Amino acid sequence: MSSAPKSNPASNNASENELAPIHDFSRKLQQEGLVGRVKEYVLWQAARRGTWDGTAPRPQQAPVSINLDLTTACNFACDHCVDKDILNTGIKFEHERLLDSLHQMAENGLKSVIIIGGGEPTTYFKFEEVIYFLKERNLQVAVVSNGSGNRRILKCADAFTEGDWVRLSLDAGSDEVFQAMHKPKKKMTLDDICEWVPQIKEKNPALSMGFSFIIVWKGAEINQTNIIENIDEIEMGTARARDYKFDYISLKPFLTRSPVNNAEIMDINNKGITFDEALVRIRKLVDRAKLLETDGFKVWESTNLRVLENGTFRNYTQQPKTCHMQFFRQVLSPLGVYNCPVYRNQRHGRLGDRDAYENAVMFRQTQNTLESMLDNFNAADECKEVTCLYNDVNWWLEDLINNPEKIVALEVAEDTGDYYL
Ligand code: SF4
Repeated sequence: MSSAPKSNPASNNASENELAPIHDFSRKLQQEGLVGRVKEYVLWQAARRGTWDGTAPRPQQAPVSINLDLTTACNFACDHCVDKDILNTGIKFEHERLLDSLHQMAENGLKSVIIIGGGEPTTYFKFEEVIYFLKERNLQVAVVSNGSGNRRILKCADAFTEGDWVRLSLDAGSDEVFQAMHKPKKKMTLDDICEWVPQIKEKNPALSMGFSFIIVWKGAEINQTNIIENIDEIEMGTARARDYKFDYISLKPFLTRSPVNNAEIMDINNKGITFDEALVRIRKLVDRAKLLETDGFKVWESTNLRVLENGTFRNYTQQPKTCHMQFFRQVLSPLGVYNCPVYRNQRHGRLGDRDAYENAVMFRQTQNTLESMLDNFNAADECKEVTCLYNDVNWWLEDLINNPEKIVALEVAEDTGDYYL
């Protein structure tokens, strides 16, 4: 068992560690539309811990944001997939029960849904219906896809509103590297995928289209196999993204699974000089890629990449004992409900089965499990290898719970309407 630090280690390097706005979760939680929920949570926890002598009931709240894995089916066989062991298991949602769960969560304060992996979401048989269902409930909706179902995204593109986004995981500039990394099961080139993007943008310019590029270096390993290096494709991928009218490319380092608890972690162990050399090359190429930015096209470096480079990433592995973000952000998948995207399909992160939010009775039961998870899941130990992007917000909430008088002076941030967590 590791002992938990008592305050945020990352705050010692605050200027170096500045979070990208999309990862500044404490600011997001201070928005007018969410700050009241933070207060309720903090006072409830402070009363339970005895740091506040008032009483506060457990907030009857759904998570603010979920990752929704619509399916475990995937039509690619990517060598770098962190979810390989859960793919194509045949385990499915019952569609009507899934809609009931989403409705129940929306009624209880769900604000945003990121439809993402564990499978390729556009292979879900009622993909478009789910998008319309969520948008009818005024939820923010984002989709992470391998690009093979762009025809279906185009079909429902009109449903999306400002702030919604679609991100295609493509990771290559050339078709050769794309094929080697992603291995589509049906013939499909990188051009075939990218050609849909201008059409989607034309149908709905408000929908932000992103090109995701996970940077893989020589020696990076997952599933006991070395995976294809793509560092030399960074610039070409960026030019491709710009030319095909994506709004941005996001560049982030590869994650693997910890052999200890299967958590998603950065694969930097025992790489020595090779890894340091890779970082130098990555920096050079990311800088060149940045020169390709225009008014309508941006190059985003992930927070992970920055902290890996400046050596402060270990600060993000020192979590408080309680992970408060379990309360505000969860994963709903055909395999069940989980406390964190890092622990998809991991027994120790399981909050219930796939219908755990289907109706009011199950909702309450799931909240009981969540309460016990908040008490018993020791993030300081379980997540000690994870460069957790929620580290900062978890420490912020921890501080508020230990010093609830700070709640009174809590600033309300301007509402940018970004409720993705
Ligand atoms: S501390 Fe981070 S990695 Fe661990 S459960 Fe919480 S959010 Fe996930």
